[in-house]
Amino acid sequence: MVCFILPTHLLIELAEAGNIELRDAIPTLLASAALRAQRATLTEAIQFLGLDAAQLPAPAAEFKAVYDVQGGDERSLPGVMRRKEGDGAFSDPAVNDAFDNADRTYDFYRDVLGRHSVDGNGLKLISSVHFGRGFDNAFWDGTQMVYGDGSGKIFQPGALARDTSVVGHEITHGVVQYTAGLRYHKQSGALNESMADVFGSLVKQHTLGQSADQADWLIGGGILGTQLQGVALRSMKDPGTAHQLDRQPAHMRAYADLPDDGNPRNDNGGVHINSGIPNKAFYLTATRLGGNAWERAGRIWYDALATKLRVNSDFTEAAAATAASAQSLFGADAAGVVRASWNDVGVS
Ligand SMILES: [Zn+2]
Repeated sequence: MVCFILPTHLLIELAEAGNIELRDAIPTLLASAALRAQRATLTEAIQFLGLDAAQLPAPAAEFKAVYDVQGGDERSLPGVMRRKEGDGAFSDPAVNDAFDNADRTYDFYRDVLGRHSVDGNGLKLISSVHFGRGFDNAFWDGTQMVYGDGSGKIFQPGALARDTSVVGHEITHGVVQYTAGLRYHKQSGALNESMADVFGSLVKQHTLGQSADQADWLIGGGILGTQLQGVALRSMKDPGTAHQLDRQPAHMRAYADLPDDGNPRNDNGGVHINSGIPNKAFYLTATRLGGNAWERAGRIWYDALATKLRVNSDFTEAAAATAASAQSLFGADAAGVVRASWNDVGVS
């Protein structure tokens, strides 16, 4: 599973609307397809063959490293080592941005959720920057984070590795891979995407010290280029309002029942589209519980992800799982808030 921050269907729609040239989008589309074909087996091996993370190689003493893939593609990953744990800042801002945001994400998982890296066992966080040429995407490839530079049309140059919510989102795909393993398909895939947005936003909120009321609840806020017009890639507070092509629903009545037929336009059955519904449920829970979202709402969602959700869980199961986690962690009042929030987005 390769999880891109920019859904492929948006790339196609931008080309169709004339915002970008189709020929400019083709390298990104081809890279996406090649990566999918090449990397799918690793995730499947970990998740479906029941590999135990504890049996994997011993944790490295150095938790993070950033590489420069120097404009190369997936065959060149990870590239040339530029900065590792304990090193000072490097002369390339992209390297430092990827490093610092991986650090913030690592600290969030350790300090707030008691989780030691994506696998819970100290797996080294590897990032590569300068993927492709003007590549308008960032992704978790099943083993590491990868960041393109952005062309300026869809994302501002340098913005993907610089945005804490984007980095937190991508690293969380690794956490999902090693916990519930939510299949990247229809509702379980939309839950996978939503978990990545939830914890991507929480890493940013934790870094900035913002309460639920102060947070912007945006994924990729302020990083869009000239042709994707709006405030962010996604809004958890108001799904469907982030940019001109945003068609995320905020309620089940607008659920997009798309096929998972391999057509990139259909987004694995709407995984980046219907994620608006669980995103809104989390936003409602966090703001109703009040205070810092990571202290209660975040711990509830993480407990459900790590101990209750499974590969094929759907929205209804997620509602029940988060309510049960709320009950056990914080009692009946919190569970009531969780249930009411899911009910308000049409899930019960
Ligand atoms: Zn994603």
